[in-house]
Amino acid sequence: MSVTAQTIISAQKKYFSDGKTVDLKYRKSFLKKLKGEVISKEKAICKALYDDFGKSEFESLLTETQIIIAELNDAIKNLKKWAKPKRVRPSLVNFPSSAKIIKEPYGTVLIIAPWNYPFQLALSPLIGAIAAGNTAVIKPSELVPNTSKITADIIKNVFSEEHVAVVEGGKETAQALLNEKWDYIFFTGSPKIGRIVYQAAAKHLTPVTLELGGKNPCIVDETANIRLAAKRIVWGKFLNGGQTCIAPDYLLVHQNIRCELINALKEEILLAYSENPQTSPDYPRIINNGHFERLLVLLENQNVVFGGKTDKKERYIAPTLISEPKMDSPMMQEEIFGPILPILSYIDEQQIKDTITTYEKPLSLYVFSKKSGFYKKIIRQYAFGGGTINDTVVHFANKRLPFGGVGHSGIGAYHGKKSFDTFSHQKSVVKRGNWLDIPLRYAPYGKKIKWAKKLGKFM
Ligand code: NAD
Repeated sequence: MSVTAQTIISAQKKYFSDGKTVDLKYRKSFLKKLKGEVISKEKAICKALYDDFGKSEFESLLTETQIIIAELNDAIKNLKKWAKPKRVRPSLVNFPSSAKIIKEPYGTVLIIAPWNYPFQLALSPLIGAIAAGNTAVIKPSELVPNTSKITADIIKNVFSEEHVAVVEGGKETAQALLNEKWDYIFFTGSPKIGRIVYQAAAKHLTPVTLELGGKNPCIVDETANIRLAAKRIVWGKFLNGGQTCIAPDYLLVHQNIRCELINALKEEILLAYSENPQTSPDYPRIINNGHFERLLVLLENQNVVFGGKTDKKERYIAPTLISEPKMDSPMMQEEIFGPILPILSYIDEQQIKDTITTYEKPLSLYVFSKKSGFYKKIIRQYAFGGGTINDTVVHFANKRLPFGGVGHSGIGAYHGKKSFDTFSHQKSVVKRGNWLDIPLRYAPYGKKIKWAKKLGKFM
């Protein structure tokens, strides 16, 4: 690793151990400063995102900068409350005593971000990290050089490097950073790289949050409001050019409404992006040639019922609907992460189960239905990170809901207060009184054995 990165890490460790981040007012002042900087650079951030992969200003505001401003507002408003030690009821066996949980920062944390929501996913964990009193190093994705640069500029304008720093670079930089000993690692990206990060963390027994991905099912039953379902599926799927970790990956549609839903999906795509989405200012491009080529392979030998047009020069793939892909085709073997939506039909619930349980636990699940018995059963029956009934993606937009995966789609969660808790060690402390000392626990135990069996009741 470069000497500068190592210098930053040791400077951050010193800054932390000197107690610089302890004061809540100090932390809050940086949250405020960061908010001011994000607001003043909002246009430039949107431009960087457009330059990186043609993301529209509307989507950049909605899914990047405004989410960060909302998270900052929440942290600024509630920091004192979140950080307050929590008194809990003392246990009787410890009588006389008091007990509390102290929220303590871990120390120096590493945040590794992906490219698909590159600004939001670098800064959102940072807010939790600094609110909780840590120092932090952010490694943005190398696939979005413009956003990476502006993220670095913003951080430089707000923080000294010994508090928060951005280390730009690709895989080698990330690996070199992972060789260091961190107090916490927060990673967002693919399950494949998540495994590498987890292994690196294990070497030092470093705690982690892993925000990963998966194949997210979206079920539409025969009672669903088809028009509205189509509108909401098209929005959630083709947002960010389909490059969204919580986008519906594939549809499971009841056989009786299959044709009607496909027609409604086509109409909604036309309404959103016109006859030629390539000319729509709202439709992004695929991030790089590697991902473009990967998606072309997924399209091979598939039954395209809508879209399918591609343009290598622009890395453009039209919003595309695929009918009944084979389960052993590459499209159904991996997370799609692009603007291609396979549609599978089902007749009974066993077929839903057979399909969903083919895959690892997904990050999200969506179900469109008017039958409460049906959607409640689906929500209960399958393990997934989070999800929505009768819409897609929007569970992300509630800071009171912890966001994260389960199993292969991730470990841990964040957003709002949960971000603060994620970056805080919960230190449990009991204070004993000295005016009484019940002798029961001390040896010689002799006839006290009967008490040993009863003490659990008083813990
Ligand atoms: P990625 O795993 O390829 O890269 C993520 C980060 O890891 C980048 O900063 C990259 O430089 C770094 N990296 C790459 N190779 C590495 C290595 N060998 N060792 C250490 N670090 C390495 O992911 P991506 O392509 O940027 O993002 C897409 C994936 O992320 C999808 O699977 C998607 O579902 C997932 N994702 C999840 C969430 C979530 O919140 N759960 C959000 C966005 C994306």
